[in-house]
Amino acid sequence: MTPLEQEIRQRIATDGPMPLAEYMVICLTHPEFGYYTTGHPVGGKASGENPAGDFITSPEISQMFGELIGVWCMEAWQALGSPLDFNLVEIGPGRGTLMKDLLQVTQVLPDFVAAKHVHLVEVSPTLRKAQKNILPTQANIKWIGDIDDLPNRPTLIIANELLDALPFRQWCKHGTDWLERAVGVVEEKLTFVLRPNRLELSELPPDHLAQPEGTLFETAPAREAFVARTADLIKSNTGAALFIDYGHLKSGYGDTFQAVRDHEHADPLQQLGNTDLTSHVDFGPLCAVANSTGCGVPQPVAQGQFLLSMGLLELAGRMGTGRPADVQSNLQQAVERLASPQGMGDLFKVMGFAAPTGLSERLSGFS
Ligand code: SAH
Repeated sequence: MTPLEQEIRQRIATDGPMPLAEYMVICLTHPEFGYYTTGHPVGGKASGENPAGDFITSPEISQMFGELIGVWCMEAWQALGSPLDFNLVEIGPGRGTLMKDLLQVTQVLPDFVAAKHVHLVEVSPTLRKAQKNILPTQANIKWIGDIDDLPNRPTLIIANELLDALPFRQWCKHGTDWLERAVGVVEEKLTFVLRPNRLELSELPPDHLAQPEGTLFETAPAREAFVARTADLIKSNTGAALFIDYGHLKSGYGDTFQAVRDHEHADPLQQLGNTDLTSHVDFGPLCAVANSTGCGVPQPVAQGQFLLSMGLLELAGRMGTGRPADVQSNLQQAVERLASPQGMGDLFKVMGFAAPTGLSERLSGFS
C-alpha cells in the first residue's frame, strides 16, 4: 500500500466516502506524494538522459505541434495589434517541449520575441526542474503557481492536456435520483460507492429520465471555475486562450474516468500517487462559461482539423524535402498520429476564446 493510500483510507475512515473530485486532487497534487508533484508523468519509456514517463502527449510526438501553436500565437498577437508588451503563458507545460518548439519558431518574428514575457504556470517542482533544463535562459522565463500572479497586460494563454487533469465528479442514476459516486472502503478494499448527495436534475441533459438505472453522468465544476478565471483574465487584459484536450463537444452519459501507468490502462483505485488519473473533457459547458464571462468563443474543432488548417501538411512537406526516407517516414507517422481519426485527430478537441469579442473571429485554426 502506498503512503498516499494509507492517508486516503484514514480520511475515508474519519469523513466517509470521498467524492472522486477530492480523490483526484489528492492523488495528483498531494504536496508530498501526489502523482504530478513527485513523478515524471510525460514521456516515453526510460531512455538515455530521460526518466521514464507514463504517457506521450502531442508536443512529445513531434516538434510540428509546438511550432504550429507558435504560429497560432504569432497570428493572435498580430490580430491583437502587435502589442509592445504581452504575456505569453503556458499552463501545465509538462516537460517544456511545446514551449521550446514554440519559442524556436517565433524567432522569425523579432518584434514578437521582444514583446513577449513568458510565464509558465506549473504546480509540480519536479516538472519545473525539467522545464528549466530544456528551455533557453535568454527567453527570461518566469515560473508562477497560478494565473492570478500574472501582470496586467495583453495575454496569450495555451494549455495542452491540462483540463483533463483537473477534478471532475460522477453521478449515478439511482431510482429517480442521481447520487454522487465516491471512493469508499468495503471489506478492506477501496471501492466505488455512492454518497447520498444528489445532482440537480436541471444539470442533466433533457433525456435523463429515459436512462437506465446505474447510468453515469459527469460534471466538472472545477474545470468550469478554472476556465471562468482564465476568461476573466483575458476579458480584463485583452488577449486569447487555447485549450487542447481529449473529450467531447456534446454532453453525454458514461464513465470516462481513466487511469494510466507506464503507457497502459490501470486501475484508478490502485497504486495511488503513482498513476495518472483523468477524465474526458466536456467542452460544451466550458465554452458556455467563457462566453458568459464576455469572451468571444469560436466553435471548437477537432485537433486534426485545427492542425491541418494551421498548415500541418505543408510544414511536414517542408521539413521532409530533400531529407532521407526514414526522416520523411517519421514525419508521415507523426502527421497521422496527431491528425488522423485513428490517432489523436478526432478525440482531441481545440477550444479557443478571445477578448475583445471580435478578435475571436480572427483566431487562426477555427474556420
Ligand atoms: N502540457 C504538457 C503536459 C500535460 S500533463 C504536454 O502536453 O506534454 C499535465 C500538466 O498539467 C502537468 O504539467 C501538470 O503538472 C499540470 N497540472 C496538473 N494540475 C494542475 C493545476 N491544478 N494547475 C496547473 N497545472 C497543473
